[in-house]
Amino acid sequence: MSSPRRLIARLRNFMAHRPALQGKDDLLDLARLIAGELVSEVCSVYVTTGSDTLELAATEGLRPQSVGRTRLRMGEGLVGLAAATGETLNLPDAQNHPAFAYRPETGEDAFASLLAVPVRRAGRTLGVLVVQNRTPRRYDADEVEEVQTVAMLLAELLAATQPERTDLGLAAALPRRFSGAALAPGIVLGPVVLPGRTRVAHRLVADDPQAEQLRLEAAWAAMQAGIDQLFRDRMPELGGRKADAAASREILDAYRLIAGDAGWLKRVGEAITSGLSAEAAVARVAGELRDRMRRVTDPYLRERLADLEDLAARLLASLDGGSAIGPETIQPGAILLARRLGPAELLDWHARGIAGVVIEEGSAGGHAAVLARALGIPALGGARGVCDSASDGEQAVIDADEGQIFLRPAEELRTGYLHAIAARTARLAGWAGLRDQPSRTKDGTRIQLMLNVGLAMELGQIAATGADGIGLFRTEIAMLARGAIVDTPDQAAIYTRVLDEAGDRPVLFRTLDLGGDKLLPGSPPPEEENPAMGWRSLRIGLDRPALLRRQLRALLLAAGGRKLSIMFPMVATIAEFRAAKALLMAEAAHVRPSPQSLRVGTMLEIPALLFQLPALLREVDFVSIGTNDLMQFLFAADRSAPKLAGRYDLLLPAALDTIAMVQQACETAEIPLSVCGEAASRPLEAMTLAGLGITSLSMPAPSLLPIKAMLADLDLASLRPFLTALRRNASGHASLREPITAWARERGLEF
Ligand code: PEP
Ligand code: MG
Repeated sequence: MSSPRRLIARLRNFMAHRPALQGKDDLLDLARLIAGELVSEVCSVYVTTGSDTLELAATEGLRPQSVGRTRLRMGEGLVGLAAATGETLNLPDAQNHPAFAYRPETGEDAFASLLAVPVRRAGRTLGVLVVQNRTPRRYDADEVEEVQTVAMLLAELLAATQPERTDLGLAAALPRRFSGAALAPGIVLGPVVLPGRTRVAHRLVADDPQAEQLRLEAAWAAMQAGIDQLFRDRMPELGGRKADAAASREILDAYRLIAGDAGWLKRVGEAITSGLSAEAAVARVAGELRDRMRRVTDPYLRERLADLEDLAARLLASLDGGSAIGPETIQPGAILLARRLGPAELLDWHARGIAGVVIEEGSAGGHAAVLARALGIPALGGARGVCDSASDGEQAVIDADEGQIFLRPAEELRTGYLHAIAARTARLAGWAGLRDQPSRTKDGTRIQLMLNVGLAMELGQIAATGADGIGLFRTEIAMLARGAIVDTPDQAAIYTRVLDEAGDRPVLFRTLDLGGDKLLPGSPPPEEENPAMGWRSLRIGLDRPALLRRQLRALLLAAGGRKLSIMFPMVATIAEFRAAKALLMAEAAHVRPSPQSLRVGTMLEIPALLFQLPALLREVDFVSIGTNDLMQFLFAADRSAPKLAGRYDLLLPAALDTIAMVQQACETAEIPLSVCGEAASRPLEAMTLAGLGITSLSMPAPSLLPIKAMLADLDLASLRPFLTALRRNASGHASLREPITAWARERGLEF
């Protein structure tokens, strides 16, 4: 393909003469120019017409008679797919892609390879730019970059011809409900505030790359200073607790690391060299990163996307001479609706007084979610489409506890929620009373309730919830948050903080569970069909023992003579457990002082271990069942596939029998057993686990007091025979959720 500089220069020339596309001929000229420069056999421009149709508006290479005739709905065919997902498609054999939709009038069957790049501006998809060639080939990174640059310039031309969508029609006046996932608990009612449209770079190409580079560097420095100032000002808001302050540092340090990443600045610099303005170069690089990170399913890594978008918006604002994003002042008690939100943005908005937040692409482990919990702001993730359906100032109710948001709620609903808020305040006061009491069922069985944590920020929750300890410390999270493997002294410092904060309460440290889609930046994505079953977790630790040994040494150093409990994730065989334990013992021989006690356990996540229980239990000091992975492998159901959510649950007879079998084996062998998967955090499942004889549950902090309250009302002695009978007669049942729920309801148990 041509040099990007020449292509941009030619496009600039084109734009200088035609600042807006006047008609089909202009678009056709543009398609010809692009096809010629890119040496592609086809270059087509599809434009969005109405809300969900894409129409072939110009083509060089396909049959001219298909222009204006070939149409695809959003999501239909490869063009519709690129438009709907906002992602670039790069396919050597397009016609065999499952989404391919054949349109005979185009004559496109002659072309094997296809590159489809969405044309987006300010969050809207204006069209799709498609390049095709006869020979099957995957377009290389430079070619993709070039077409993406053209798409960005094309967006400006199309935006000048397509009116902004201002009228959403009747639907915009009606109440609407969206569901999502609770990121931080609570209910809040208030006017909506939208962060405003993505800043759009108006000057896209520049004559003087050096001047642009200087502008970029000045804006970069101003942005860094602004971030430092923001963090200095807002840190105290995160609570005076030592752990909270330490953890805020962790998330905000990670953010600073990304902010200061010279690699990012360098890539923007390169884009400037190719002829773009500083603004357009920032937008281009942010767009590329966005595309790359969209494919990541791991929530912690996806969160880095929010960090990057936050930074890109901040840098664009800084280039524009401003600093803040969104309006300076908002109505008190407003609810922020954002597609993505970085930690610094959340601090900004908190300073302006928001009372609740919805993050369309947010997840519970995300930075903004962690900060929202620390700040006590109810937050909801998911709720796709809510940003597009709302207008500034409209009323909304976030019910994070039920995972929903109501836009323009009817009056009765509003009143209902006002009552619910009052009731919740009263109930929380009751739960707070439970905090300092040990967790017991109504008939006196002690059930240990522990926390799942991964960031120092969450340590404050031990005291806030009165937890019995930490049942799962996910050590990889600090690394994912920092974007790198932390060296031994820094790891030791993190673990020391955890043990200091936990005091006498037990902590189960889990060794690194990286790999699969939990990838550190810079590591090449694995060439694996099934990353969840691939080279991940302990498998990496055993193949790269230096990494695991460094972590084990850090844990031993942190213990410094105190008690230490370590468990290994994704153990499939007793031999793996032995090998991992041998590495630990080799390190322990060198570290002084030795821990007061050293307990070594395993997560139970891989079904193969179920068939080796008696032998396994002779070697381990404790077992923790990770229901998230165990369920996905038991039922061969990807835990992150939304289509499968709810299809298999812990209350299926097979799952209950599995847990009961492990419980009995551990009881016989006198090996402590806990459950630390998400299932333990849901009251009905927690109740059932207690009914199966599990006496230690580990969960995220928001679930702990509600579960303690539920257990305090539970008569375990009557639940056990009920469950036994139910399981005995369960053949042919799908989930036993219904009869178990009915049993609980009849006894007035609250969920
Ligand atoms: C699990 O698999 O249940 C578990 C707790 O580990 P993670 O969710 O971190 O994979
Ligand atoms: Mg797991």
